Amino acid sequence: MEKFSPSRLKTYETCPRKYRFIYIDNLGPQFEKPRPELYLGNQIHAALRHFFETAPQERTLDLLHHLFRRAWASDGKRRETFADAAAEIPYGKRGLALLEQFFNQQDTRVIPYKLEEWVECPVDEKNALLGKIDRVDREPDGSLHLIDYKTGKAPSSLAYVQHDLQLPVYWLMAEATFGQPVSRISYLYLDRPQPITLQFGQAEIEAVRERVRKLIQAIESDQQFLPVSNPLCRYCDFQSICPLESRVSPQAAAAQDAEIEQAVQDLPF
Ligand code: SF4
Repeated sequence: MEKFSPSRLKTYETCPRKYRFIYIDNLGPQFEKPRPELYLGNQIHAALRHFFETAPQERTLDLLHHLFRRAWASDGKRRETFADAAAEIPYGKRGLALLEQFFNQQDTRVIPYKLEEWVECPVDEKNALLGKIDRVDREPDGSLHLIDYKTGKAPSSLAYVQHDLQLPVYWLMAEATFGQPVSRISYLYLDRPQPITLQFGQAEIEAVRERVRKLIQAIESDQQFLPVSNPLCRYCDFQSICPLESRVSPQAAAAQDAEIEQAVQDLPF
């Protein structure tokens, strides 16, 4: 079975060329740069997991901060992510501040049903969806509340979240994995008191299943994986080999030109 995570599908939706660089050419290890924000997010997730594994009466802010420092200090990617202490300190302090906001604004006594659980759902006989859910709480009526922690900035518009594939795909996978109904799903931004919560009806979930199926078919039949200019290009690690960027070598540009010329030939007009 080929496994597709929500972020893998999202990468293809955003830019098929970037998808090819990562998932087909496997160029990630060569081009992807260390990301301090990602490192920070990973340590926060680890701290919150250990925090909610602890008995509710033992959960204090000091414990949460200690768990964060332990996760931070023990991750082998620390040295390659931060050049020196001056680069590291602002991110460490931001993590401590975010966790303090979380501790002061959220229910820290809750006993989750699942923590960092892998979920999966078949799409067809060859492909499946796969992902990991940060936290699953049980509602009073027995249904499930899926929670995804976010350490970045909340989007300014709800429309962005509503169009995002990630939340309904997690909903689909959770119902298939746990065999229990999901009643809501939330992005919990650590610096906001209120999560962004969505609910999906059966028709919406079926529409997403169809969207996923079509997306995977498009990936399977794509011969060119053309680049798509988008607002995230400026953060893209593959700019130096992207045909849409100017910093390509003459040889790479020539090869990419051939691909673009082929795409021109294939135009329906
Ligand atoms: S720079 Fe932009 S167009 Fe090029 S691969 Fe990256 S995301 Fe795609």
